[in-house]
Amino acid sequence: MRVVSFHYVLKNKSGELLDSSSGGEPMTYLEGSGQIIPGLESQLKSCASGDKKKVEVKAKDAYGEKDSELAFDVPRTQFPPNEDIQVGMQFKIGGPGSDQEASPVFTVVKTSATHVSVDGNHPLAGQDLFFDVEIVEIRAATPEELSHGHAHGRGGHHHH
Ligand code: ZN
Repeated sequence: MRVVSFHYVLKNKSGELLDSSSGGEPMTYLEGSGQIIPGLESQLKSCASGDKKKVEVKAKDAYGEKDSELAFDVPRTQFPPNEDIQVGMQFKIGGPGSDQEASPVFTVVKTSATHVSVDGNHPLAGQDLFFDVEIVEIRAATPEELSHGHAHGRGGHHHH
């Protein structure tokens, strides 16, 4: 297994900038560990250090198609009475004892007097993604990384 570090610029179909690693640390992943979207990883397999590549990833190989069942209205009465619900707020669903980790992150997209509209789709669901990738470094994974199932940062510092 290899550990790959790369810089990227991510745009959508209409050319809008969605995300970029420029000015920060490169993205680093352990091959086969699911740290990055599958459609990107599969197209970086053949890359070598220093390569620059344009990669197009269809929505289904990125964050998936939008799931309409994850967008719904919740009655206000389901929220704590004094909570000031604002568009853009994010939360997971589940009470004590439930597996909250498994819940998608829901974002409040609209509020009315009686209801709060939430959407649990990833913000990039349903979008084809266009990456400009520059491979910074490719190295063999360390035994520690292989046992943890993810890449550690450059210089070997441990982050989780
Ligand atoms: Zn680790």
